[in-house]
Amino acid sequence: MSELNSKVSGESELAFESALRPKSLEEFVGQEKVRAQLSLILDAARIQNRTSDHILLAGPPGLGKTTLAMIIAHESGQSLRLTSGPTIQNAGDLASILSSLAPGEVLFIDEIHRMSRSAEEMLYLAMEDFRVDVMVGKGPGATSIPLDISPFTLVGATTRSGMLPNPLRDRFGFTANMEFYTDEELTRVLHRAAEKLGIAAEPKALSEISSRSRGTPRIANRLLRRVRDYALVAKSESIDVGLTQSALALYEVDQLGLDRLDRSILDTLAHKFEMKPVGLSTLSAAIGEEPDTIESVVEPFLVRLGLISRTAKGRVITNAGLRHLGLPALDNQ
Ligand code: ADP
Repeated sequence: MSELNSKVSGESELAFESALRPKSLEEFVGQEKVRAQLSLILDAARIQNRTSDHILLAGPPGLGKTTLAMIIAHESGQSLRLTSGPTIQNAGDLASILSSLAPGEVLFIDEIHRMSRSAEEMLYLAMEDFRVDVMVGKGPGATSIPLDISPFTLVGATTRSGMLPNPLRDRFGFTANMEFYTDEELTRVLHRAAEKLGIAAEPKALSEISSRSRGTPRIANRLLRRVRDYALVAKSESIDVGLTQSALALYEVDQLGLDRLDRSILDTLAHKFEMKPVGLSTLSAAIGEEPDTIESVVEPFLVRLGLISRTAKGRVITNAGLRHLGLPALDNQ
């Protein structure tokens, strides 16, 4: 997976991310609509003294879904339990999590689209009636025993909302569709991060980093750290535009924020497949990257920039994509 996009790439990265996480909706930059909607849901629950509706957060990695889950718990005065779809292998795993929840607790399931089928079915009943059916015994003698669980709020996060089965999607009272951030919003994220980390950076340098951060706060913060490293080694007291540009050139992040993996996709579509539509699995084999990473991490941004398009026949590079590679555009687009 592309290093800049990966969730976390090490212990210090984890510490770095958690130090920069906003703690309240007010501190959370951008996503105005989502923030206003969430604030309403949480206020309504507070007024009625009940647990909040279940909330689904959908969008590409690094846009703040985990952060929002933490904020939801914090603002509801509840603790947060974190787990993820791939770690819930079967219904038993989920049953033990659900039955140990304290009343009102917020349960965050990251990558909820990757949960096992049997766990998913158990979750339907839990979300609706705060009850689970636990299977006791095996074979023909197996019986299911209903077990009440404490009322809780489920916050699910997914990078692939299209992969969620309808019965699960329907049980969320609210779905927040997270959008890529504008450059101006990312600059605000970076100002905040620079302040917290004690990094002296010129406003123009922060704008330069924002414009190359693929609309994603995680990437913006990570690039800031890379540029800070560069400044340290160059023994530069503060970060200016020139230094930022040199650092980003070294890390192979181009003007649009594309990294080596993005460019290899564009390059492969242009050269190897000669600008013809290509299926996901063929593309994945050609560049040696997981189809899921291509589809949920890399493509959304390339599509957003109009560099590739997804057609019924497959992925195809657009004229803008060709121009970005310095190639002549085609007449038929
Ligand atoms: P996701 O769960 O969607 O992959 P995270 O919540 O882990 O994303 O966010 C990644 C990093 O980006 C966090 O360290 C957080 O500090 C930062 N971040 C995300 N959204 C915002 C925001 N709206 N304002 C400030 N920082 C943010």
